[in-house]
Amino acid sequence: MDFLSLTRDGLGDELDKLGEPRYRADQLCSWVYERRAGRFEEMSNLPAALRAKFAAQFSLRPLVKVGETGSEDTTRKFLFRLTDGQLIETVLIPASPALYGERADRRTVCISSQVGCAYGCKFCASGLDGWKRNLSAGEIVAQFLAVEELSGEKIHNIVFMGMGEPFANYDNLMLAIAILNAPWGLGLGARHMTVSTSGLAPRIRDFADQPLQVRLAISLHGATDEVRGRIMPVNRRHPLEELMEACSHYTTRKKQHLTFEYILIRGVNDTEEQALALTRHARRLNAKVNLIPYNTVTGLEWERPDEHVQEQFLRVLVERGAQATLRREKGHDIAAACGQLRLQVTRQAD
Ligand code: SAH
Ligand code: SF4
Repeated sequence: MDFLSLTRDGLGDELDKLGEPRYRADQLCSWVYERRAGRFEEMSNLPAALRAKFAAQFSLRPLVKVGETGSEDTTRKFLFRLTDGQLIETVLIPASPALYGERADRRTVCISSQVGCAYGCKFCASGLDGWKRNLSAGEIVAQFLAVEELSGEKIHNIVFMGMGEPFANYDNLMLAIAILNAPWGLGLGARHMTVSTSGLAPRIRDFADQPLQVRLAISLHGATDEVRGRIMPVNRRHPLEELMEACSHYTTRKKQHLTFEYILIRGVNDTEEQALALTRHARRLNAKVNLIPYNTVTGLEWERPDEHVQEQFLRVLVERGAQATLRREKGHDIAAACGQLRLQVTRQAD
């Protein structure tokens, strides 16, 4: 069983079943989340019999690193194998002040929530081979632990912008967030976590109604139903009006701004008409717009617009009073294309 999917209470229940005192849960959590023990044998203040019982039943390290790209001072992308052989990607971004308004020395990890993705956005590598399965809460938490361990660096922010649609794996996502946030867990502030969704409106409402102040980013990529529907099939199920209502529910409940992510794709969503419609959405919700030049995916024909077109698109937004930034740093290209490394490896293996 997956130790990292257990809350402290859940762990207490497991201890009950094993005939052990519940207070051991605190000791176990401290070993795992504070001292980062990778094996039960290391837990020297626990009775040997208890350690043996746990070692026989629970795994602490569900991920094995099988690949890596990037470099120390730019973005590093890790490819992990799960216990059933499936592959996921996790990305370490050294600093993303432009993205999340955080300090320049703050590191961010971009975490996957599913193997593959069922939503089939036309421009995205993660959905190209369809959906395989949801990640467990433990597999989500383990990505954070593994990247801190492999890099030897403390990570300050989490963005759920890796492979998969986090809100299609809602329960495991929220359990993972609870463990990442808990004082007995990783103690990461809710405001240091951002969930990105392609627009599952009912889940956005659920997310707004749960108590934690986790941030929200919406993958918009089209500012009218016509354009958005062409590249994001999810828009047919939850059109823009429904999506914007759910977003507005979030901002009202949380008293927090949200972010619209908008990848600029040449000849698809980079027109002035789209910029104007996007401005209206952003202003109505007081949302921050993140413009991201499209990152080419092998096998797909989409391209980013020329730089002057990107700048012009930004200008339309800014001049009309929307809060917007254009991502210009090349180092982030690798992160923007989550799903590609896995695709390369799985396709080579096929
Ligand atoms: N499924 C969620 C979480 C994935 S986030 C979502 O769609 O929001 C990954 C982000 O990268 C999304 O905004 C996605 O639209 C964007 N993206 C996907 N492919 C990309 C590419 N080739 N270039 C730039 N951004 C891309
Ligand atoms: Fe899935 Fe998000 Fe990619 Fe769309 S953009 S296919 S929802 S991972």
